[in-house]
Amino acid sequence: MDIPRIFNITESAHRIHNPFTPEKLAALGEALRLEKGARVLDLGSGSGEMLCTWARDYGIIGTGIDMSQLFTEKAKLRAEELGVANQVQFIHGDAAGYVSEEKVDVAACVGASWIGGGVAGTIDLLARSLRAGGMILFGEPFWRQLPPTEEVARECHANSISDFLMLPELLASFGSLGYDVVEMVLADQDDWDRYEAAKWLTMRRWLEANPEDELAQEIREKLTTEPARYAAYTREYLGWGVFVLMAR
Ligand code: SAH
Repeated sequence: MDIPRIFNITESAHRIHNPFTPEKLAALGEALRLEKGARVLDLGSGSGEMLCTWARDYGIIGTGIDMSQLFTEKAKLRAEELGVANQVQFIHGDAAGYVSEEKVDVAACVGASWIGGGVAGTIDLLARSLRAGGMILFGEPFWRQLPPTEEVARECHANSISDFLMLPELLASFGSLGYDVVEMVLADQDDWDRYEAAKWLTMRRWLEANPEDELAQEIREKLTTEPARYAAYTREYLGWGVFVLMAR
C-alpha cells in the first residue's frame, strides 16, 4: 500500500507537505493552548512534523497514520531525532475510516480531506475519535480569487471551481456543519513557495541521480513547466489554511 510514487519523489525532502512553514506550524500549536499530555490524532500525518515538534514543544502525545511508506519512515526518524519517540507513534496505513480506541483531545486532518470523502465526511470521521469538547484541526485549500474559468481552476490542479470555496464561504460552511471556528492560521504566498518551489530542486536532483527511471520523462516535463504554471495559477488563485473547530 502506498501513495502514487510521484509524490514520494517530488516531496521526498519536505518535512511539511503543505504550504506551511515551521513558524506557522509552531504558531498553530501555540494557538491551541495545548496542555502537556494532550492526545492528538493526525490522519494523513505525512512526515510527522506537526506531531513531533508539538511533542517536543508542548508535551503532547500523538498518533499519526499515513499511507506513504516513505513519509511514515521519515516521521519515525524525525521522532527519534527530536527525542520524542516515546510520545508519538506513526502507523503506515489507510486512514479512511480510522477511529482511535481512546478518545483524543485534538483530531487533525491537515491537507488530506479526501481521506473521509471530502470536507463534511472527514470532519465526521475526525469527530468519532474526539472527546466531548475537543478540537478538530482541518487543513484545506480555498480560493484567494475566484478562477474566472474552469480552465483556470484546472490549471490550479483542481477538477473544477466547485472543488473549493472562498474563505468566508469555507468558514461559514463549518458553521453549517455544526462547528464554531475558534482559530485559524492561514498560508500566504511565500508559504506556498516553500511548499511548491521546494519541489523543484528535489526534482532537479532526482533527475540527475535517476536519468533512466521510468518516471524521468514525467519529472523532466514537470520541472520544465511547473515554475511558470505555479506562478500564474496556484500562487495567485489558491489559498490554504488550518481551521480549528469545536462542536456547538
Ligand atoms: N498532514 C501532513 C501531510 C499532508 S499531504 C503535513 O501537513 O505535512 C497529504 C498526506 O496524506 C500525504 O502524506 C499522503 O501520504 C497522505 N495520504 C493520502 N491518502 C491517504 C490515506 N488514504 N490514508 C492515510 N494517508 C493518506
